[in-house]
Parts: sequence; C-alpha cells; structure tokens
Amino acid sequence: MTATPPMCRCVVPAVLRTSWTDANPGRRFFGCANYRGVNACNYFRWIDPPLEDNIKRLVLALHKRIREVERRNNHSSFVREMSKSFFIVVGTLLAKSVIDYLFGNM
Ligand SMILES: [Zn+2]
Repeated sequence: MTATPPMCRCVVPAVLRTSWTDANPGRRFFGCANYRGVNACNYFRWIDPPLEDNIKRLVLALHKRIREVERRNNHSSFVREMSKSFFIVVGTLLAKSVIDYLFGNM
C-alpha cells in the first residue's frame, strides 16, 4: 500500500507522514514534500482508512500517556519499551482497520 510515493504537483515524491490530530490519530498520509514552504502544492492523500471512534480514543489516550512519560523520563529504557508497545498496538489496530476496510466488515 505504501510502496511507491506518488508525485505531488511540485513533481517531487510525496512524503509519508502520520497525522496526530484528534480526528485522525496515527493515520498515515502522503503529503507535499514542500509542505509549509512558499511553493507548496498542498498535495494530500490518506493511506489508511478512517479509524472508528473507539480506536481513535484509544490511540489518542496511549499517545498522550507516552508523551507524559517521555517528558518525565527523557530517553530512559522504560520509555523505549513503552514506545515499542505503543507502536505495536497502533500497528495492530491500523492493520485490523485496513482489513475491515478492504473486506467490508465495518
Ligand atoms: Zn508539492
């Protein structure tokens, strides 16, 4: 799904990013490589399907918790372990979401 980045209207490969807005936490998208630059073309395309509300709340809560712990313990091994767990959870949820989306079980 994410193999080749599309070209934006600036004729450069779009950049893979992850949204952390309340509406789309952890949702990946391709965006213009010159984003916020003077000549940005504002290219934007979601990669992941929208998350269900309960999953959004869970991802936001986990992400907030990780940031709180990170602020308290800069780069401790605990933070690295928490971060790994977080990305495993988010990855699993996104994978489930993609499967539901592709096979229409939403
Ligand atoms: Zn562009």
